[in-house]
Amino acid sequence: MENINWSELGFGYMKTDYNVRCYYRNGKWGELEVSSDEHINIHMAATCLHYGQEAFEGLKAFRGKDGKIRIFRIEENAKRMQRSCEGVVMANLPVEIFEAACKKAVKLNERFVPPYESGASLYIRPLLLGLGEQVGVKPAPEYLFIVFVSPVGPYFKEGFKPTPMVILRGYDRAAPLGTGTIKVGGNYAAGMIPTVKAHDMGYSAPLFLDAKEKKYIDECGPANFFGIKDNTYITPESSSILPSITNKSLMQLAEDLGMKVERRKVLEEELATFEEAGACGTAAVISPILRIDDPDENRTYVISKDGKPGKRCEELYHKLRAIQYGDEPDVHNWVSFVE
Ligand SMILES: *Cc1c(COP(=O)(O)O)cnc(C)c1O
Repeated sequence: MENINWSELGFGYMKTDYNVRCYYRNGKWGELEVSSDEHINIHMAATCLHYGQEAFEGLKAFRGKDGKIRIFRIEENAKRMQRSCEGVVMANLPVEIFEAACKKAVKLNERFVPPYESGASLYIRPLLLGLGEQVGVKPAPEYLFIVFVSPVGPYFKEGFKPTPMVILRGYDRAAPLGTGTIKVGGNYAAGMIPTVKAHDMGYSAPLFLDAKEKKYIDECGPANFFGIKDNTYITPESSSILPSITNKSLMQLAEDLGMKVERRKVLEEELATFEEAGACGTAAVISPILRIDDPDENRTYVISKDGKPGKRCEELYHKLRAIQYGDEPDVHNWVSFVE
């Protein structure tokens, strides 16, 4: 697209040419359908609208120096969507349908995949919805899987800069035995007040503590938390965290860089000991943390003393981006091409 200012793109929705759909009816998934309609026409009594029977994913496609389009870890996203399907009792979506629909959506909207130089990418949003008219609480009889895409800018427009986060003790995102481990809209609804509050207070995101004991670090807004100290990458273990594919990738890269990796409970007090910390997810890869405030307890943990991202965060960030754009060999087989 000649008239898109790629470097000015933010993280938002832009209309593209096509989306890809697949319906589940009479107990089976149908063929992929291509649509240029941005709207869906569904029954007002659909379970996705009333009872939150829905799940989504988020992944990206990147254009390399070689002009080829790469999608990062698509199979992991497909498998995570299957776990989400199970978690809210929806028809299980086969990995092959997930992958084919994403690739088709990217291919059909190829002109929206930003050029290599821009640092931008094409965000892919797969969505699965429970359909069919129903008022009682039970799983839907029909489902719609839909994939749309939108070009998104480099997350850090003013460079890779640490931001402050805040612990808001009056809110929980997910219960220990709830839906925290799956990617469903309900978790975002539960986190909406603390997210807005954190933003209004000048923070980039709320840092959630575990809902039961309020002692351990859980998630960092819509991203996973990690801390670094003594050449060790540490990320919380919890039954209410969504397993981030970015985090999984960073753990592998940390190991490749000769660091130790620990997945274990992280006490809030341990924040004082980290040399570096960040939030990680597909949108930004890493958002380095400047400082974490716990206003209810009158505590502050300064992570970045000089206001800059730490050395390890920088290294991990550049390493992961290099693999995504095809600048470095894909030794772990994370990338698949759109042909
Ligand atoms: C999507 C998501 C993440 C990040 O996962 P990635 O696979 O790295 O994009 C982290 N936490 C929550 C709650 C999420 O919904």
